[in-house]
Amino acid sequence: MSKKRESDQRIRVLVVEDEESFIDALTIGLDREGFDVAIARDGQEALTLFAQGRFDVVLLDLMLPKLSGLDVCRSIRADSDVPIIIVSAKGEEVDMVLMLEIGADDYVTKPYRLRELVARMRAVLRRRESLDHGHEDEEQIQRGTIRMDVDARRCFVDGDEIKLRKKEFALLRLLLENPGRVLTREVLIDRVWGSDYVGDTKTLDVHIKRLRSLIEKDPKAPAHITTVRGVGYRFELTKPSV
Ligand code: CA
Repeated sequence: MSKKRESDQRIRVLVVEDEESFIDALTIGLDREGFDVAIARDGQEALTLFAQGRFDVVLLDLMLPKLSGLDVCRSIRADSDVPIIIVSAKGEEVDMVLMLEIGADDYVTKPYRLRELVARMRAVLRRRESLDHGHEDEEQIQRGTIRMDVDARRCFVDGDEIKLRKKEFALLRLLLENPGRVLTREVLIDRVWGSDYVGDTKTLDVHIKRLRSLIEKDPKAPAHITTVRGVGYRFELTKPSV
């Protein structure tokens, strides 16, 4: 009986992957981390399994037999908001912006460390959970040592208040509200400056630089606001493994 209860609490992950070496490593590694793993070896099987089961998160390889990862992502997104993490191989020509636009939550590049993958999965799950249950108090956002009091428009790092201008506050708030998620430059500019913004896109980088100088221990090697090259920025919940 207790075994059943335990399995109810485990996170169900659909791993869509066609490389046996990865399948073996993920099956063993994720099981050890407390995930129930189901494997789909091609895009078609992924959609079939997804339709049959309930999954908390999907780990989706891009290059797959039968249906591509992008097509699978689009199909799943058409009727589910399950967190999807895209996996691409190093050197693969990937349009990250397109992936995020069609609804992927995050992505990792092979070869990855299991620890990093699990951290990313937990981050998208935490984010989804706070959206689903409204855990996120409207007035307060706490991410590690950073606390934002939205109503009072104040922000604290390690208990010390930092002074933020209006756009800086809006930008940091957006990042804090989406931990572990890549936000594209387009989304950030659109949400902070408005869709009719026609100014210099360097403005975003200037604001990020200033935020880093305020919240990062080492602004030159940021641990919180990381750059996703060619795509945008991400607020890290946990330091990426080194
Ligand atoms: Ca593949």
